[in-house]
Amino acid sequence: MKDYTQILRNKKISPSIQRIKILEFLDQHRTHPTVDEIFTSLIPIIPTLSKMTIYNTLKIFSAKGLIKSIPNSENVGHYDFNVSPHSHFKCRLCKKVYDIDVDLGVTIGTDIDGYKVDEYNLILEGVCKECNERIKK
Ligand SMILES: [Zn+2]
Ligand SMILES: [Zn+2]
Repeated sequence: MKDYTQILRNKKISPSIQRIKILEFLDQHRTHPTVDEIFTSLIPIIPTLSKMTIYNTLKIFSAKGLIKSIPNSENVGHYDFNVSPHSHFKCRLCKKVYDIDVDLGVTIGTDIDGYKVDEYNLILEGVCKECNERIKK
């Protein structure tokens, strides 16, 4: 069991119960949840929770580098506990966001004509494996 209180303290974030639960949720659900999904899952545990609290908490976490927010063309933010550079695949049908292993041919630290890479956020879009199976049937 991870010590989320300590993780928050290390980042100088005061460890309220809401913050601990939100961080724990993101760690345990590596499916890039949205604010709505986090809210629906945590409201039975924390009845005082509001979407605004979740939104603000995620903003603090992102600013401190604890999590990453994944930009989305439809203005729905997805949140990721995995902060190491990796690529994503967004399904047009079920709207889920998956981690995907793709060789960009670019590594962190590379210098491209003087442009030094320290981050990448590739988002591929299409139809995911599960949805493809479903369509076939
Ligand atoms: Zn899908
Ligand atoms: Zn991810």
